[in-house]
Amino acid sequence: MTMDDIVMTHEMLIRLGFFFGVFGAMVAWEFTAPRRAKHPVSRLVRWTNNLGIVVLNSVLLRWLFPAAAVGMAAFVASRGWGIFHVLEAPFWLAVVVSVIALDFVIYLQHVMVHAVPALWRLHRVHHADLDFDVTTGLRFHPIEIILSMLIKFAAIAVLGAPVVAVVIFEVLLNATSMFNHGNVRIPKGVDRMLRWFVVTPDMHRVHHSVEDDETNSNFGFNLPWWDRLLGTYRDQPRAGHQAMTIGIYTYRTARQVSWLPGMLILPFVGKITGYAINRRQWRSGDEQ
Ligand SMILES: [Zn+2]
Ligand SMILES: [Zn+2]
Repeated sequence: MTMDDIVMTHEMLIRLGFFFGVFGAMVAWEFTAPRRAKHPVSRLVRWTNNLGIVVLNSVLLRWLFPAAAVGMAAFVASRGWGIFHVLEAPFWLAVVVSVIALDFVIYLQHVMVHAVPALWRLHRVHHADLDFDVTTGLRFHPIEIILSMLIKFAAIAVLGAPVVAVVIFEVLLNATSMFNHGNVRIPKGVDRMLRWFVVTPDMHRVHHSVEDDETNSNFGFNLPWWDRLLGTYRDQPRAGHQAMTIGIYTYRTARQVSWLPGMLILPFVGKITGYAINRRQWRSGDEQ
C-alpha cells in the first residue's frame, strides 16, 4: 500500500477526527475566554441552524462528489496531469507548494465572490450571520460550497497537487476557518506574532464588519500573507472588536439570517443594484 492509498482510505476519518477535535477545542475556548460578551441572537438558534447548513452541505458534497478533492488528486496523478507531474518535481516540494498555492487560490476565490454581484449573493449567507463564532466559519450557502469544490478541482488539476497535499490543505482550511472565526480572546502581543503565520480571529473579524471598507479587506482564510502582499490588509475595525457591528446592514432579521430556510433563499432575495466590492462607504438605502 502506498502512502496515497493509506491517505485515500482514511481520508474521511482523518478529516472528521480533525473537525471534531478542533471544533470541540474552539467551543471550550469560546466559553472560557470569549472576545465579545454580548450575543444578538440566542446561541441555540444560531448553532442549530449554522450546524444544520453544515450537515446539509456535507451530505450534498458526498453525494455530488463521492471521491472529493483527494479523488481528483488521485485521478490527476494517474493521468500525469499538472505542473508538478510534468516537471517531475520532488514530492516534498510539490506538497509544500501545492498547499501554499491552493491557499492563494482560495484567497482569490474569496476576492472574486465579493467582487462579482451574483456571487456576492451566495457569499453573503456567510456574512449575514449576526454574530461571529466557530459556527460562522462553517456556514456557507450550498451553491458556494459546490462552486468552491469545482475551483479546487481545477486548481488541483493545473498544479498536479499530490493526494497528501490535498488532504493537508483540506484539514488545514477546515481547522483554520474554525479558529479564525472563533469568539476567543488572544493577548494582543500573541495576536501580533500569530498574524505573521496564520489569520487570527481578530484579523478575520474585521472582514465580518457591516462597514463595506472593512468587509472588503482581510480575505485570507489560512495564510495572512496574501492580504499584506496584495493590499487588502486591515489591522483592526474602526469601532473596536467589542463595539463593532457584525453582519450586513440590510439583512438583520433573524428569520432571514439565522434560520436555515431564510439562509437558503437569501441569495435570491432583493435586486442586484451594484458592486459590493470597492465601496468605501455604506449609504442608507443601498442594497447589499
Ligand atoms: Zn467574505
Ligand atoms: Zn468569514
